[in-house]
Amino acid sequence: MTARRIDGKTLSEALRTTVAEEVGRFQAAHGAVPGLAVVLVGEDPASSVYVASKAKQTVEVGMRSFEHRLPADTPEAELLALIEKLNRDDAVDGILVQLPVPRHIDSGRVIAAIDPLKDVDGLTEINAGRLAAGRPGLVPCTPYGSMMMLDWVGRPLAGLDAVVVGRSELVGRPMAQLLLMANCTVTIAHSKTRDLAEVCRRADVLVAAVGRPKMIPGDWVKPGATVIDVGINRIPAPEKGEGKTRLVGDVDFETAVEVAGAITPVPGGVGLMTVATLLANTLIAAHLRRGLTPPAVFADLNRRLFGR
Ligand code: NDP
Repeated sequence: MTARRIDGKTLSEALRTTVAEEVGRFQAAHGAVPGLAVVLVGEDPASSVYVASKAKQTVEVGMRSFEHRLPADTPEAELLALIEKLNRDDAVDGILVQLPVPRHIDSGRVIAAIDPLKDVDGLTEINAGRLAAGRPGLVPCTPYGSMMMLDWVGRPLAGLDAVVVGRSELVGRPMAQLLLMANCTVTIAHSKTRDLAEVCRRADVLVAAVGRPKMIPGDWVKPGATVIDVGINRIPAPEKGEGKTRLVGDVDFETAVEVAGAITPVPGGVGLMTVATLLANTLIAAHLRRGLTPPAVFADLNRRLFGR
């Protein structure tokens, strides 16, 4: 059996179209355009490409984009002052600080400085705490986008065994919380987990968020399972020419696709969905900040996924 491909390109395009329509409605109803501020400290080439792509897509859905590129040696106090300014700026609904930040800056302090109502990455303690308590808030983009991909698969999640490999604040932990809210029986695996292969083989839903190229082979995948591969790893690709590289996930796609029921590719999977979800979160934040109910399309999605 060959798995269905969960196509991040198609799904992210559909989400962006929905966001664009809702931005139009929001503007007509409230006379304001949602705005997203993205802050990048330093010149990391991969981060720089991400930030440019986020800014482009923000404008494409009709929102305002505010890009702040700061030199790598920016003092922490200066970054905190910028965040304070963005917190007070009424044109800004969402603030995202591109991680990682340079070593001299404490990322915890930076995240804590973001107004939880503008925290479109869902990383502040308020939003992480709400998620842990099963209450609504702003949810980290990659896990929320991954849940939308599971929604597309259409297999009811309640009662399924879900395994999340990885327990980072950004991906693994919030993903596990969302799967729990969707009534899965959730296992969180990590670097100290014993017999990871056996743990993975139990999963009806397997989420890999590790950062190790092709670590999960097809024979760790339960036949028919849904596999969400969050990993983005760059490996040498001599077949493309000397010094060339290519992107692969944490799952060995070639063997897993023969066993799984549905699977996300890398590239073309979760990564694309993450950026579209950031735009959706900005729109949701624009509503919440004004005491408005977010668009019905997201309420419907949450009801389907989480029964609330
Ligand atoms: P982190 O490095 O923060 O976390 C990695 C997790 O994997 C840790 O919990 C670690 O366990 C666990 N781990 C490491 N080695 C093993 C192992 N051998 N067996 C089991 N678990 C292991 O990474 P992130 O969560 O930030 O990112 C994970 C991957 O997802 C990366 O490839 C990243 O590039 C990608 N990513 C993709 C996004 C997208 O949009 N598609 C967005 C964000 C990230 P422990 O806690 O014990 O150390």
